[in-house]
Amino acid sequence: MSYTLSVLEQLKIRDARQTEFIQAATEILISLKDYVDANPQYEAAGLLERFVEPERQIVFRVPWIDDAGKVRVNRGYRVQYNSAIGPYKGGLRFHPSVNLSIVKFLALEQILKNSLTGQAIGGGKGGADFDPMGKSDREVMRFCQSFINELFHHISHMTDVPAGDIGVGKREIGYMFGQYKRLANSFEGVFTGKGVDYGGSLARTEATGYGLVYLVEEMMSQHNQSLAGKTVIVSGAGNVGSHAVEKAQQLGANVIAVGEFTGTIIDKQGIDLTVLREISARRGNFADYVAARPHAEFLPGEKVWSVPCEIALPCATQNELDEDDAKTLVANGCTTVGEGANMPCTMEAVETFRHHGVLFAPGKAANAGGVATSALEMSQNSSRLAWSFNKVDDKLQSIMINIYHNIAAAAREAGCPGNYVIGANIAGFKKVADAMMAQGVV
Ligand code: GLU
Repeated sequence: MSYTLSVLEQLKIRDARQTEFIQAATEILISLKDYVDANPQYEAAGLLERFVEPERQIVFRVPWIDDAGKVRVNRGYRVQYNSAIGPYKGGLRFHPSVNLSIVKFLALEQILKNSLTGQAIGGGKGGADFDPMGKSDREVMRFCQSFINELFHHISHMTDVPAGDIGVGKREIGYMFGQYKRLANSFEGVFTGKGVDYGGSLARTEATGYGLVYLVEEMMSQHNQSLAGKTVIVSGAGNVGSHAVEKAQQLGANVIAVGEFTGTIIDKQGIDLTVLREISARRGNFADYVAARPHAEFLPGEKVWSVPCEIALPCATQNELDEDDAKTLVANGCTTVGEGANMPCTMEAVETFRHHGVLFAPGKAANAGGVATSALEMSQNSSRLAWSFNKVDDKLQSIMINIYHNIAAAAREAGCPGNYVIGANIAGFKKVADAMMAQGVV
């Protein structure tokens, strides 16, 4: 059996119950197989066995007191996966579904994603099974402070720089940064996604959604197409989804539907972002959209993927688009898919897209704009400067265009032109692997 496949088999035995992690590792290792097997120096150095094993995994108790005075306990995580090319970097997710398998899959993806940005950032991810939905600001603050009381021991601006993810936005980053600063007695850029008044970068909020659309537009332009005039559907009305809608509209696309877990809005005249954002800001119900836009339709409980479109942008969460959804999209004329979320398409869905010649931009390339802009925030913090929105946005755009060309070149070199899954995995892996080789067995 090939070296790569034998490492994968070992992993499947060792972490058999970590289904999301095994899913992500399988996709990555299968993509890397030919490349790694053609470079026997990796096997001689036990490189893959080291690559798949996190450098450090921290699991901890997060006790806090709710508004009724009751003691609550959540479980916190930080997986510091790989620091070969820079300090661990990656978001924190607060969601009831968070467990070690989810954090490990996200951290593994993050290693390659961060490498693709071309910046000096290693891979990590963390979070807790805490649900900020329905909690008061004070409860969220007490939770965040307790979470940092432990995480404090493991992070610093040179070691590990967390940021947001699902359930962690400006409010949570503010509370965590405040508690870190108090414990450390030091004002450091230890988090990214901070408020702009205390070290955050302009355009960081927009970066993941904008970056996704920049990369998709570049991929389409290399195939003599563009977003202008195309029908687009998006899942997720959070930070990533709403900014993807905004940028796609700016580039002349007609975004006709947005879906999230309660259902799907169809607005053939084009999604009205002001209405959508007003509903999200008050954590209201998607059904309210129709009150403001009576010609629109709300389909309760329906996924967005049944709405005919030319471009689909899954921006919600892992495995939200399965094989049946992919078949429906293809049958309805969808020709381009860009992943704004992390691993939103199942492996079978990706295979269906590949089989039907759909242009497919995988998340670790397509949604790298968020973390890339986090690295720009780190640069600004280190130099004590604050750049203009346009300067950050211009840099983001060129980073996304570079990522596209790097993954396209890697796919061509691997003999699979247009297979950006293979391209992204090889291009991201190569830099990390070579840095690990140079640093010896550590
Ligand atoms: N959570 C985001 C991601 O999946 C951003 C991470 C960061 O900015 O560090 O890449």
